[in-house]
Amino acid sequence: MTDIPKSHPRYASLMARERIADGVRNGITSAQGMIAQGRGETFDYILGERTMRSADRATLAAAAALLLAERPALSVNGNVAALVPAEMVELASLLNAPLEVNLFHRSEDRVRKIADLLRSHGARMVLGESPDCRVPGLEHSRALATRGGIYDADVVLIPLEDGDRCEALVRMGKTVIAIDLNPLSRTSMKASISIVDNIMRAVPNLIGKIRSLSGSPREDLQAILRDYSNRNTLSDALLEMQEYITARMRELDTAGRSAGR
Ligand code: ATP
Ligand code: MG
Repeated sequence: MTDIPKSHPRYASLMARERIADGVRNGITSAQGMIAQGRGETFDYILGERTMRSADRATLAAAAALLLAERPALSVNGNVAALVPAEMVELASLLNAPLEVNLFHRSEDRVRKIADLLRSHGARMVLGESPDCRVPGLEHSRALATRGGIYDADVVLIPLEDGDRCEALVRMGKTVIAIDLNPLSRTSMKASISIVDNIMRAVPNLIGKIRSLSGSPREDLQAILRDYSNRNTLSDALLEMQEYITARMRELDTAGRSAGR
């Protein structure tokens, strides 16, 4: 790994790049995964690389939905495995839920490597190596799923998922929780709960909220879900991004004035 000083203003983002680059070198992440990370970084930059208020509310709703779920399932792809493998395993164990390897650019070798990586972090239920059913409405290997995993789940967490697959899972009647830095992606627009945040902040935040809500009565969790609107969350996310941009524009004005321009 390249040595990046902690004091570097882009430390977190550069570390994430290193993890993705390592993921590609180790056969866990696809080359296209690097481009997906870059698209995410762009949105992270213009939302200030912090968890927005709207994302925190979405994360609370996601925690409530996952705690209320009868059969939750968590999807893992090559970027998720490179960035937050230990955290995904911790989340699965908290919820007693399976992790399912689910790749947009599927190769049997990559599926096995990701499953092995999750098991090396202590995962007990890893699916995806022997798919036995198909998500209706998707083509080719993108439809592949496993009974007992995402296919039968009532609530699914799909970090960094493709829009078509998100839509197909919603059509199956599932509560779909997305983690996606782009509030305008098809995934964010179609999901039941969209967490517009970097997965590296979102998953630890989700774990914290699940821990603090875990003793709550079901009615309280149901009330959190009743009060939640994904439409409002996404429009609030866009407004928070706009506020951030406006603040940077003010800084530019101030800098221009003090330089006499
Ligand atoms: P869609 O198909 O939903 O319209 P897309 O084609 O832009 O969206 P994909 O390339 O299919 O999206 O998936 C990558 C998505 O993951 C992007 O929306 C990107 O913003 C998001 N993303 C990438 N890296 C991260 C990350 N570290 N944390 C959260 N989201 C991320
Ligand atoms: Mg896409």
